[in-house]
Amino acid sequence: MKLDQASIENAVKTAYADHKDDTGGENASYIPYLASVDPALFGVCVMTADGQLFEMGDTGFEFALESISKVFSMAWAMEKVGLETFQQKVGADPTGEPFNSVISVALHGDAPVSPLVNAGAMSTVSLIPGDTAEDRWEAILQVQSAFAGRKIRLSDEVNESEQSTNFHNRAIAWLLYSGGTMYSDPMEACDVYTRQCSTLVTARDLAAMGATIANRGVNPLTGDRVVQAAHVPAMLAEMTMEGLYTASGDWAYQVGLPGKSGVGGGILAVMPGKLAIAGFAPPLDPAGNSVKAQHAVAQVARSLGLSIYKAS
Ligand code: GLN
Repeated sequence: MKLDQASIENAVKTAYADHKDDTGGENASYIPYLASVDPALFGVCVMTADGQLFEMGDTGFEFALESISKVFSMAWAMEKVGLETFQQKVGADPTGEPFNSVISVALHGDAPVSPLVNAGAMSTVSLIPGDTAEDRWEAILQVQSAFAGRKIRLSDEVNESEQSTNFHNRAIAWLLYSGGTMYSDPMEACDVYTRQCSTLVTARDLAAMGATIANRGVNPLTGDRVVQAAHVPAMLAEMTMEGLYTASGDWAYQVGLPGKSGVGGGILAVMPGKLAIAGFAPPLDPAGNSVKAQHAVAQVARSLGLSIYKAS
């Protein structure tokens, strides 16, 4: 592992230059807003567990957090109900299914299987304490902000685009309800889940969110403890098993870092105790993972010799 400033700076610059002109993939089109984002945008960032930032490209552009939000809501639900209850009520196994799979709810019965697919993520939201949907939403927005170290806001435009097209997720929410694994009103959980996906972050924010995980739950920019250190390994384990959906196994095999993608084009990878790598580029592969961001993040990890499976 070579983690001096010059090596990180060089790794970020080289990964950006090597993958800037990569082609392939398409913007998500099932959410109309996402189809309209400039597909040429591309940014790569590293933030160390002590808050040093290295960046190249469009790292200040705000994009939709989408499924990466699942990691932070998972963290908050665990914080509130405890690790064991969370595991029992939401599940913790890889699904081997696409992120929006109905099968992972319908066939498994007693738990939605993983908090990082849509089914488990809505179940997770429903577990977050609150008298109303607004209470749960405020808690989620605050936790996203605490991980990022700045105030994160909802994009009304993204949210409206998603809320008016999220029929599939609404169906999953009702299936969870009928199976007994939806712990609040299902349409409220789906609404709050859709909002948590519709917040705006930059690649820099993503890197800070990841650096907070790498720093065992303390945001290196603010010094605030966001979640207890004891829950961080469960977040990392879940990211390894399900973070890139049907590509999670290949990612673990080839890159060896817990990761999480979103259909907004963001990807986050974390080397525990050391740093986070964030990438952003809208065109996605068929699994729903950003093509360029995957390549760039993988290259940064490789050139710095990072993998949780290698002895340092
Ligand atoms: N909001 C999106 C959805 O529920 C998030 C999916 C994703 O990023 N993989 O379909």
